[in-house]
Amino acid sequence: MEDSIAAGLTLVRENVKRAAQRAGRDPSGIKLVAVTKTVGPDAAKRAIDLGVTALGENRVQEILAKGPLLPGGIEWHLIGTLQTNKVKPIIGRVNLIHSLDRWHLAEEISRRSVEAGLASGVLVQVNVSGEETKSGLSPEEVADFIKDALSLPGLTIKGLMTIAPYVDNPEEVRPVFKELRLLSENIKSKISSVELDCLSMGMTNDYTVAVEEGANIIRVGTAIFGKRKY
Ligand SMILES: *Cc1c(COP(=O)(O)O)cnc(C)c1O
Repeated sequence: MEDSIAAGLTLVRENVKRAAQRAGRDPSGIKLVAVTKTVGPDAAKRAIDLGVTALGENRVQEILAKGPLLPGGIEWHLIGTLQTNKVKPIIGRVNLIHSLDRWHLAEEISRRSVEAGLASGVLVQVNVSGEETKSGLSPEEVADFIKDALSLPGLTIKGLMTIAPYVDNPEEVRPVFKELRLLSENIKSKISSVELDCLSMGMTNDYTVAVEEGANIIRVGTAIFGKRKY
């Protein structure tokens, strides 16, 4: 198991480097979030020993359970849909929430962050492909949402996130990633006070295409830890 994690990580890092080079980008500007959902603490620890600095989870309970078992100083990223009643326990415990997808959630993150005396970094999740099963704002809604959210204290919008549809050939979802990048650039040009530096896009199936299209955060689980057992 340990060797397969090392091999998986090496492959992902090489692929990221090559994709970045193809796009004329510096690979060091691309953050790998190793997605540890359903992965036990030993495997997560192994990844950290191999240089992983950021872990991603989609359930609040898993962050709270695994966090104390792992070394401090690593980043935690919440990448899954967040219920408003689960906001309070993660405030101050995660470095970035990737899944801000509705106004009520923005208000709750703001309220709980102010209570805790800190600011929470968030990404706005965008449903670029329009798949009904996916959460996220439609691209048309994002600019106004961000404009409004700028007035919420304790909430810092740091960028955009999307999940592309699962397809056999990741080339097919290239336009999804391109659209998220263009949307981000468009909003930055319209709203000067927002810093949308983060583009979280790309998973095991499609991260090389995402990097070619400008991703600077990729969320990769299966390629590192193997197929998940639920
Ligand atoms: C599970 C998950 C990932 C990682 O998926 P893999 O295909 O295993 O790389 C990335 N992003 C989100 C939002 C996820 O839920």
